[in-house]
Amino acid sequence: MVRYYEKPTGDLNKHYNDEELLKMTEEKVEELTQQHNELDKRNREIYNGLGKKKKELIKLAVDIWGDRSNEYRYLKKATIPSPTNWTDYWERTLSRRKKLMEEKKAEQKEKEREEERKRKVERAILWLQARGKRLGEDFHMESAIHVANDIAFDEEVKRCQEAGKAGTYYEFDGNDWCEECEGWDGVSRRCECGNRRVYWDMCDWSDFEDMQIHGVAD
Ligand SMILES: [Zn+2]
Repeated sequence: MVRYYEKPTGDLNKHYNDEELLKMTEEKVEELTQQHNELDKRNREIYNGLGKKKKELIKLAVDIWGDRSNEYRYLKKATIPSPTNWTDYWERTLSRRKKLMEEKKAEQKEKEREEERKRKVERAILWLQARGKRLGEDFHMESAIHVANDIAFDEEVKRCQEAGKAGTYYEFDGNDWCEECEGWDGVSRRCECGNRRVYWDMCDWSDFEDMQIHGVAD
């Protein structure tokens, strides 16, 4: 096989460990990919040339021994050595690099999320302290966000209920069984038409820094 085909040399033939792959610049990847593609193209041409020679040989065998001969059958079954065993090395290296980079990116993202959560905890502590709550007594580091959310929710409910008492009606989720209904006042257990039981709920994306609540029917 070696005598037919060209082998990758230099950087293209190197085995790269994870660290080296992550450090490799895009320019280097581009350069080696181009080298690989050219080498692959030349090898493919050799492979196709051997295929042509095999066809000629079979034709000659038919001329000499006929198409029912063992010689013909033998040549037909003979396989041409292929370069693919080692030419896909670079492709495998590239896909390993891609996977490594994705893993690193995910790791980085997770780290950022964790940092953001830490900052959020700090802000929750300040938010709670501004309301006279004491760390270690009324709440702990681990529960700061949760406690702040609960208090912000209660505050927002209270505010909406005051407006409800003053005549505001709120739209709510699940009002499809209502009949000529004004909505919900935010205080009563049922909506204006009386068909649905409604309660306040925190919106999914919401927290103490931007408390959004909405009415939901059972
Ligand atoms: Zn109703």
